[in-house]
Amino acid sequence: KYLGLHDIRTEFLNFFESKNHLILPSFSLIPKNDKSLLLIGAGMAPMKKFFTGEEIPPAKRVTTCQKCIRTGDIDNVGLTDRHATFFEMLGNFSFGDYFKHEVIPWAWEFLTVNLEIPKEDLWVTVYKDDDEAYNIWRDVIGIPEEKITRLGKDDNFWELEVGPSGPCSEIYVDRGLEYGSEDERPGGEGDRFIEVWNLVFTQFDKDENGNYNPLSHPNIDTGMGLERIATVLQKTDNIFEIDAIKDIIEEIAKVSGKKYGEDKKADISFRVITDHIRAMTFMISDTIVPSNEGRGYVLRRLIRRAARHGRKLGIKRAFLFEIADMVIDSWGDQYKELKENRESIKEIIRREEEKFLETIDDGLVRLNAHIKEMKTNNERLLEGKKAFKLYDTYGFPIDLTEEILKEEDLDVDMTGFEEEMELQRKRARDARDDKNIGWANQDNKHLFEGISNEFLGYEKNECKGHII
Ligand code: ATP
Ligand code: MG
Ligand code: MG
Ligand code: MG
Repeated sequence: KYLGLHDIRTEFLNFFESKNHLILPSFSLIPKNDKSLLLIGAGMAPMKKFFTGEEIPPAKRVTTCQKCIRTGDIDNVGLTDRHATFFEMLGNFSFGDYFKHEVIPWAWEFLTVNLEIPKEDLWVTVYKDDDEAYNIWRDVIGIPEEKITRLGKDDNFWELEVGPSGPCSEIYVDRGLEYGSEDERPGGEGDRFIEVWNLVFTQFDKDENGNYNPLSHPNIDTGMGLERIATVLQKTDNIFEIDAIKDIIEEIAKVSGKKYGEDKKADISFRVITDHIRAMTFMISDTIVPSNEGRGYVLRRLIRRAARHGRKLGIKRAFLFEIADMVIDSWGDQYKELKENRESIKEIIRREEEKFLETIDDGLVRLNAHIKEMKTNNERLLEGKKAFKLYDTYGFPIDLTEEILKEEDLDVDMTGFEEEMELQRKRARDARDDKNIGWANQDNKHLFEGISNEFLGYEKNECKGHII
């Protein structure tokens, strides 16, 4: 059944509301009172304390659509069909309430009844020792055994550094031989089987020493990628070609004068830019500003990486900030912090972009000269000092330098670079103000007069009755 991105979100939240879940708005991308995380990368991440019992949840059953950033997936963006750095994760959560026997049939019902995905296309994996989940899939749902794979800890055990963890069960959609080979299986390389939903049976609390302590009440945490399920329903090749997101690609095509779908390399750039624009727009709406540290550095890296891919498409001027409007228009009803901060978001992107454009060409000339020299001398590693100079003077985030070198089969001397960086950090540390977590608190505050997008949390009881 064809459904648009925004309709799938509504359908999901309404489905779980009908199963007595409380709909909460997405939490901020900035983790709250949680030093173990830089950015929120899963629906459960902002709710960790509900799982451990440190905080009381507003309801035992909760459902959300959470904005997520996963920088760990950045190298996959544009290359695989299914990875973005920014995406929305649909989830339903049980805090010591229901468990496997409820969540598995509900997931099945939502996929096969509400979304009308053919049962034959669905495959699942379970944790190797989780007979309970295996039996529910086989006996209650009726999935044939050959479509249930037992996988080890790497794949089917969910955990962060510390906190709630447990075995999980992933649901895959077989997209057919058009997308892979006959012998491909869920959990392997390749994009024929696309993982859409992860059901996590959170029954442990992992401590700093790596011990798994059983929780008194087991929990449920699930995560379904909104863009992925849209890809399945809309039968597109990848998560960037679905409704709303494809419009961004088309706009970049207009700006660059190039067509999407004609040149494989250019297409990667189109998808990278599209992804990064979404990520930067959402990050800034959550009060993150470009900087040389932490979240701000992630943002800076995304903006500059997108700008460089824009260059690759032949775009010579700042353009990212204009396209941010499309993200704000399309997602602004769901995430009002986008609309409320439209001008600031665009201004922050434009400034960062323009600043980088001033130096990018000189930096590229310099880096290309290094590359030439390295090749002549048969060297594989770019000196740390040179990489640092590119970073410090030309604004090249180290990952960008690394990425460009990798395209030539070369690399950076990271130890040397880190040494230079450490010296720099020492200098910066003295001047740092620890309270600077967002632009609302920064020196350039005057730019954003009248703006307030403080997170209104459940503890203020403000999201009770909040409708999506
Ligand atoms: P994969 O194995 O495909 O990388 P994952 O196992 O890392 O996915 P989970 O951590 O289980 O993903 O996250 C839950 C769900 O969120 C996934 O089933 C998927 O639908 C979605 N998801 C995860 N990572 C991404 C991403 N980088 N871009 C878009 N959606 C994602
Ligand atoms: Mg992954
Ligand atoms: Mg996986
Ligand atoms: Mg998974």
